[in-house]
Amino acid sequence: MNNKILEIKEYAKNNHVPIIKDEGLDFLLQQISKCEIKRVLEIGCAIGYSAINMALSGPAITTIERDEKMYLEALKNIKEFNLTDKINIIYGDALEVSNQISGSYDLLFIDAAKAQYEKFFNLYTPFLKKGGIVICDNLEFHDLVKQEDLSMYKRSLRSLIKKLRLFREFLANNKDYTTTFYSIGDGMSVSVKN
Ligand code: SAH
Ligand code: MG
Repeated sequence: MNNKILEIKEYAKNNHVPIIKDEGLDFLLQQISKCEIKRVLEIGCAIGYSAINMALSGPAITTIERDEKMYLEALKNIKEFNLTDKINIIYGDALEVSNQISGSYDLLFIDAAKAQYEKFFNLYTPFLKKGGIVICDNLEFHDLVKQEDLSMYKRSLRSLIKKLRLFREFLANNKDYTTTFYSIGDGMSVSVKN
């Protein structure tokens, strides 16, 4: 990995920005290469770490971020990599800015608020080509999704875990997609649009 990438990782660590794990990133880049992905739509840019890594491997990226501080840091990082032509960041809440998206994408990468995954999926899969794929991150959420007894955790965390479980069921039962779940990184899924 080059130095600038390491600097972004260091910033993420120091500022508690939940960037994708190394193993998850490798997996994502493998899928991009295997499926010959040209256009990616990402929900949840944070400081641009995953978007920059994806763009460096080939595809053009549209990414959405609602937090101003993250957005500004992402813009700065994208400029440093001279990737402003390849990565377009939309500053706003993904639940509200779908009207700014047009055209069709080969990959939808969902990595924003974990309780809203089904909404993101329903809002943004219409922009996915037939044969395109949806990849979701953090579906195991620090292994809590498979943990039976959650009584020691706060109610808000329990509610989030329940939503992630329901979203996994939603994916597994969705007849328009063929989904495979992977225990890679923090838990990932790949859903191919039939
Ligand atoms: N994909 C990034 C990490 C994203 S972390 C990487 O791996 O490098 C999740 C990000 O999603 C946070 O920055 C958070 O502000 C953003 N987010 C959460 N909910 C959102 C929403 N509804 N719309 C836009 N961004 C959202
Ligand atoms: Mg993530």
